[in-house]
Amino acid sequence: MYLKSIELSGFKSFAKKCELTFSSPIAGIVGPNGSGKSNTAEAFRFVLGEQSMKTMRGKRGPDLIWSGNERTPAANRARVAMVFDNKQQLLDIDFDEVILERIVHRDGANEYAINGSKVRLKDITALLSGAKIGASGHHIISQGEADRILGASEKERREIIEEALGLKTYQYKKTESERKLEKTTENIKEAKILRREIAPHLTFLERQMKKLERSRELKQELKESYRTYIVHERRFIADEVQRLASSRIEPQSELHKLKEELAQEAEPVQISTSTDELEALDTRARSLIEEKGKLEHARGRVEGQIALVGKTQTESKEHVARSIPFVKVEDFLTQMRQKIERAHEDISVVKNVIESIGSFLEQFKNTQEPEPQNTKLLHSLEEELREIQESLASLASEEVALGVSRKNALDEIAQKQAREKESQKRYFEIKEAKRDIERVLEDISREEQVLEASRENLKKIEYKAQDIGVEINELPENSIRSRIEQEQALREIGRIEARLEESGFVDEDTIREYEETKRRDAFLEREIADLEASQKTLIEIIESLDGEISVRFEEGLHKINKEFLKFFAMLFDGGTATLKLVKKVKKNEEESEEEVEEVKEGIEIRVQLPRKKVTTLDVLSGGERALTSIALIFAMSQVNPPPFIILDETDAALDEANSRKYADMVKTLAQRSQLILITHNRQTMEAAGELYGVTMGNDGISKLLSVKFDEAVSVAK
Ligand code: ATP
Ligand code: MG
Repeated sequence: MYLKSIELSGFKSFAKKCELTFSSPIAGIVGPNGSGKSNTAEAFRFVLGEQSMKTMRGKRGPDLIWSGNERTPAANRARVAMVFDNKQQLLDIDFDEVILERIVHRDGANEYAINGSKVRLKDITALLSGAKIGASGHHIISQGEADRILGASEKERREIIEEALGLKTYQYKKTESERKLEKTTENIKEAKILRREIAPHLTFLERQMKKLERSRELKQELKESYRTYIVHERRFIADEVQRLASSRIEPQSELHKLKEELAQEAEPVQISTSTDELEALDTRARSLIEEKGKLEHARGRVEGQIALVGKTQTESKEHVARSIPFVKVEDFLTQMRQKIERAHEDISVVKNVIESIGSFLEQFKNTQEPEPQNTKLLHSLEEELREIQESLASLASEEVALGVSRKNALDEIAQKQAREKESQKRYFEIKEAKRDIERVLEDISREEQVLEASRENLKKIEYKAQDIGVEINELPENSIRSRIEQEQALREIGRIEARLEESGFVDEDTIREYEETKRRDAFLEREIADLEASQKTLIEIIESLDGEISVRFEEGLHKINKEFLKFFAMLFDGGTATLKLVKKVKKNEEESEEEVEEVKEGIEIRVQLPRKKVTTLDVLSGGERALTSIALIFAMSQVNPPPFIILDETDAALDEANSRKYADMVKTLAQRSQLILITHNRQTMEAAGELYGVTMGNDGISKLLSVKFDEAVSVAK
């Protein structure tokens, strides 16, 4: 006794709340046609979670709700609650009593509850499948549905039997696993597609990363090259600065010295004083000659006068010759000749001589005439001559002195000129030397300029190096590099930079993208592995479930067949009936026996009525069909008894004799399952331990009431 009660309110014709409580293993529900008996059976299906509207004789959810009439308005919802006794843990839930509840609203929405807690349909289904109860299971046989199993296809039949054997749970698990497997396979496919899709991109990104790695190496190489270059260049420049500075010292002091020397040499040599002196000497010499000429002239004149005076005296005294003696003329001429000879080219001396000759000739003329004799005159003349001769003598000595002075002056001038020449020579020598040194210094300056350019250049290179993060303040290199090596190093830097540029720029986004893509790929790889593992597990589960199902099915089928045969023989007083598992094999096109593509297993029913040659179901009478289906339904419920069985007028087509047999079989069934029998049949009513009457008044509302057998018989009518 698992089923305690069922409560209906607003469900179909049960407009008002009604309750059926079960206290006997067999409960009978009786009542006239159209009173609402079948509605109660459908209330069971409803609360157990039936989803097919057809099996509840409706089209939509609201069809299950009291539709109302002139007297009683329509209900908003239909509610059915079913109470289970769960002391024996029929349902796998830790309650002694379990209330299942389902409500359908006018908008078609459904609500489910277990012990008042809202649940999903799935929860209800799961809970019931463990107890071999299903909404549309074989344990609720609707009116006219008894031979459903006979009319069903072989495949459907197999499913009905599987359910009866309680294999639904396995099937459910299997379907669930198959669904999971399908999903998993789909996921594997998707993950593989995704992985394939990102593969080229990943390859591309990996190439980018290699490039990045390469350019990192190049950058490092570049940094090192820069650093080494700079260190060497700095040292070179420092050395050069020192070298050039020290190379300046000597020429500079030399230049200084030369400049000083040059200043000294540059003072012009004073030779003008000597020239002035010479000129003065020459002027004096000229005036000396003039004076001498004058004196000579005067002497000539005086000498002439004296000679004349002397002749006159003699003529008067001795009356000797009246003319100047020849000797005297001869002396005079000798004297003149000598003078001219001494004069060399001196024109003044010649002039003097001519002058003397003139005055001699004057005197000579005078001697030709008689002159007064005057001794006194002679004396004064002789005095005058003497004076003149004295003057001449002093002039002559002065002349000698002048000659010496002039020679001295000339010597001095020559000396000075020589000195000047020497000085000029020295001056030019110094200038030449100065120019040489200046040239040397200019060369140094030029070198310094070149060095400055190098320094500027280095500065630029250092900026560049700093830009790429070169640490310049590092320990100096110990090696020495030639200029050519440095130039090569610079060229190498250029080459590395070109290669760096060529290797392209990999930005942060690409790196992130690579990491993301790689992570994604690794994730997909793991996921595929996980999915494949669970695929394998699922396949194993399905295989084991398949095995379990097929073993249990075969065992169950065997048992059902035993019972089926028994009930059949009972109902028909003989004959045989069997369920046979048939395999419909669909071969592939090559029709090879080995290559079976699909096996469809179904259940065939084979019957052999006593004394009749009937083997197919199609030729059975309505009653015979009913008996066969009852035999089968009972057989199924015997093998794996459900907690309760509801049979809605399964006995309708039976004659009295068969009704009695049916009632007996019902009692057998009731030993293992609780029975709720909707019936018009007196024999069946007799078998029931308790009876409910369903009535419907003019208000169209079904009512339930507990009735005694006699009442039931009358109610049923
Ligand atoms: P029978 O002995 O002929 O099988 P029954 O007792 O099984 O009769 P049901 O089929 O249970 O009768 O009841 C059918 C009645 O229920 C109909 O008369 C129908 O009017 C009524 N009914 C069905 N659905 C509704 C509904 N939604 N609202 C009101 N009444 C309904
Ligand atoms: Mg009915």
